[in-house]
Amino acid sequence: MEFTDIIGNEKNKELLKSILKQQKLSHSYMFIGKEGIGKFLFANKWAKMILCQTKEELECNKCKSCIQFDSNNHPDFYVINQDETIKIEQIRNLQTKILEKPIISNKKVYIINNADTMTKEAQNCLLKTLEEPPEYVVIILIGANENIFLNTIRSRCTKISFEPLKENELIKILKEKFDIYLEPEYLIKVAQGSVKTALSIAQKKDLYKSVQDVFENTDKYTLLDVLNKLQVLYKNKENIQEILDYIEYIFLNKAQKETKYLSKIEEIEKTKKNIISNSNYDMQIDYLLFKIWEENAF
Ligand SMILES: [Zn+2]
Repeated sequence: MEFTDIIGNEKNKELLKSILKQQKLSHSYMFIGKEGIGKFLFANKWAKMILCQTKEELECNKCKSCIQFDSNNHPDFYVINQDETIKIEQIRNLQTKILEKPIISNKKVYIINNADTMTKEAQNCLLKTLEEPPEYVVIILIGANENIFLNTIRSRCTKISFEPLKENELIKILKEKFDIYLEPEYLIKVAQGSVKTALSIAQKKDLYKSVQDVFENTDKYTLLDVLNKLQVLYKNKENIQEILDYIEYIFLNKAQKETKYLSKIEEIEKTKKNIISNSNYDMQIDYLLFKIWEENAF
């Protein structure tokens, strides 16, 4: 209740509650922060509070609004939540609905998740609503990249920034909500405060295990062994930055005992940059593995 079931971003819990308590709700908000840190959960919970019919509590769980909301059947609540680009037709559709007065509550709440995937046309179309919203409307745009929004949209929204989750918060969420525990301990750092990244790491547990095995035992393997065992790296271009982060943590860990491993970290950093700047991917991986193997072997 009142955000207690959401972990992390404590300051925003207070901020959002105080907006309602002081009746300072405006028409449009922008929830900004990296993916997988709870922005959508916050928006949903807040929407429920905004729509609740009880004046004394933010979220009574007893009124018609709260009950309909919990059964995913609230006529004054509308969500666009998809991974693909949000197109102008969807915004037009939303605008038609916005004109209808609320049915249960005295407000209507619209959440647009991944709003930073809106096309320019979609943004321009939405702008009309942001410029002249019906008095009962609250729109929450959620996105990772604020700069993708048109200035005209940004200037009309109240921005709420979300921080990546702290390590202990992330561990707690993984354990309590997903029954997942990442090993070794420092693997959690690779997730950089994002549940989404942590879950993708958990799914690729075997990959991270083989990476750990190879890099912790490079001196036992021939170069050919290393290349064979790490074929997965060549096939995981889309996750390579995370995997390289992990390799870096392995060496940071080793460097605490032997400083000679510090040079490996430089090599890994170089590879990360080269991959971003689109150098030949396979060649970059070849070179990195060779570098790491070579310095270990001699
Ligand atoms: Zn209620």
